This record gives sequence, structure tokens and C-alpha cells, in this order.
Amino acid sequence: MRIEEDKKLDFKDVLIRPKRSTMASRKDVDLSREYVFKWSGKTFKGIPIIAANMDGVGTFDMAKAFISDGNGLSVALHKHYPLNALQDFYKTNGTQTVWYSIGMVKDDEEKLKAFLDSGYTPDKLCIDVANGYSEHFVAYVKKIREMLPDITIMAGNVVTGEMVEELILAGVDVIKVGIGSGSVCTTRDMTGIGYPQLSAIIECADAAHGLGGLICSDGGCTVAGDIAKTFGAGSDFVMLGGMLSGHNQAEQEIVEDGGDKFVQFYGMSSSTAMKKHKGGVAEYRASEGKTVRVPYRGDIAGTLQDILGGLRSTCTYVGARHLKELSKRTTFIRVSQQINTVFGRD
Ligand code: 5GP
Repeated sequence: MRIEEDKKLDFKDVLIRPKRSTMASRKDVDLSREYVFKWSGKTFKGIPIIAANMDGVGTFDMAKAFISDGNGLSVALHKHYPLNALQDFYKTNGTQTVWYSIGMVKDDEEKLKAFLDSGYTPDKLCIDVANGYSEHFVAYVKKIREMLPDITIMAGNVVTGEMVEELILAGVDVIKVGIGSGSVCTTRDMTGIGYPQLSAIIECADAAHGLGGLICSDGGCTVAGDIAKTFGAGSDFVMLGGMLSGHNQAEQEIVEDGGDKFVQFYGMSSSTAMKKHKGGVAEYRASEGKTVRVPYRGDIAGTLQDILGGLRSTCTYVGARHLKELSKRTTFIRVSQQINTVFGRD
């Protein structure tokens, strides 16, 4: 047994120090980024926020809303759309901002092969497993990279530099970083495994950038300020689940209770998801996700405006005219309190 003594940090442990700036207004801030992916060689231009591949968030309707929003935000589709629905969706334009998601299960691989055989090629692929540390996963990623040399691949999840390096060398363009930080994740309770998200980003970004790769911080953002902290810490993309849940684009039933409206939101390895998509929880595995009811929040446009407004404001406070400059201009300060809660959070 070994103990690492240096303290690892989460979003709640830091604030971003304001800095002298010549900027007059948050309107002057450009939130888009441009990247050339290491392996696919393709270019990304847009606001690097990705809706998580979860029911209620990574949906066709969310993708359509992001495409019509025009800011280049992207959506990782959840894994459970049937083949014909994916084919129909990919017939429409604009799917460069969409990540086709697969796990390591046979069904996903077979569906992807059938999709490719029917003449469709996704521009971007998200290979998503709960534990990105197995040799089996690295071999799987290599196999997919050999099969699809020109597609941009995001894969994870991991939280440490050595595994980021291994996956980049295996052919991944963007490493998904985060274990146990998600809003409906119970991994830390169930297994004791995890890594504070801010430190995971700092360490993994350093490892990835050294090899010309990129990272996507996945999980743990609860407010726009957390998203700003992910970019300040060096993340290239950020993936959001809970913050984008509860909208018209959820493709979920809106339920009324006592005059208030709600939408169900659940982890993708919760018993709710496993019952819905797999017919039940397999005996050998426990559910590592929870099910919650979130208040119905109408159209995603209002929430996006709030998030992007917050992010622009962060950039103004530190004098970053472009999102690219945010991490260079970020000094985190360690704090013991984030906000004044005397009247609650709102
Ligand atoms: P959020 O933005 O809601 O905090 O986190 C979203 C992320 O939580 C997802 O992108 C995914 O990585 C993770 N996640 C989603 N469902 C589950 C689950 O059932 N169990 C665990 N451990 N993580 C989940």
C-alpha cells in the first residue's frame, strides 16, 4: 500500500483570480477553438462543449438544436439508437458535430460495422467505457483505429497521465478524462475509485499536449463556473450530462407532479438504463449510476445562453479575448468556500 500525499483538487477547492484586462465587454470574447486532430488530421472549429452520450442528453434532438444554434457545440449520441434511426439521422446535413458512440460490447461493434457497410461514415467516434485502464480496451482502440484511420476518435475514461499517453499512442485523438465525478455516477460509493476532476484535468492535459493529443473533461460540472475551470485547467473539450438534462431535447417523457414538471435523468449504468436497454441488471455487476428527477427546463437554448454567457464573463474577468487564452491567463486560488449560501444557491 502507498499513499500519495499531495492534495488533489476539485472544482470546489479553487476559484479563478481576476486579472487586469483591456476588454470592455463580454461581447468581445470569442469562445470557439480550432484544433487539428493528431490521428484523423481533421480540423475542428467551434465551441468545444459536448453533450454527453447519455439518454436525455446525447439525443438527435439535442444534435439538431446544436446544429441550428450554429456555434459548433457537439453531441455524443447515446449508444442505444437502432441502426435504422442512425442511418436516417446521418442522411441529414451537419453531422460533423456529432460523435457516434460505442462501448466495447459486441452489439455496438456489430451495429457500427452494419452502419459502415450500409455506406455511412461518422466523422467522429466516441469509444466510451467506464474503466479505460484495461489492456483489452487499449487493444480494442487500436483495432478501431486500424479499421477507421480517417475518423476522429475520442476514447476513455481515464484520469492519469500514463494512461492518457498509452491511449494516444494507440490512436486516440481526444482522451476522455473523469472517473466517478458524474452527477448520476455512484462509482466512488460502490468501488472507492476516483480522482478529483480538476487535478485529473491538469495532469492529463499535460500528458496529452506533450504528445500532440487533446483531452475532454467529462463529468462533474454543476455550474458555468465549473466549465470555465475545466478550460482554465487546460481541458480542450468539456462534456456535460446533468447540466444539459431536463430540456425539450431530452426525448424523455415530461411528468407533472403537484403542478411542477419534471424529466427523469439517470446514469447509463444505472438499473433504470440497464432495464430499459438490456432488459435488466446483469448478475455479475452492480448498478453504478443513479436515477433522479430533474425540473423540466424548456428549450435548451436558454440554458446554452446562460452557460456561454458565464464563460464569456470568465474570459472578460481574466482578460482572455479568445477561449484559447483562458488557460494561460488562469491562476487558481485555493479556497475553503465558494459562495455565500445565506439565501440558498439561487
Ligand atoms: P455530469 O456532467 O452529469 O456530471 O457527468 C456526465 C458523465 O457521467 C458522463 O459523460 C459519463 O462519463 C458519466 N456517467 C454517465 N452515466 C454514468 C453511470 O451510470 N455511472 C457512472 N459511473 N458514470 C456515468
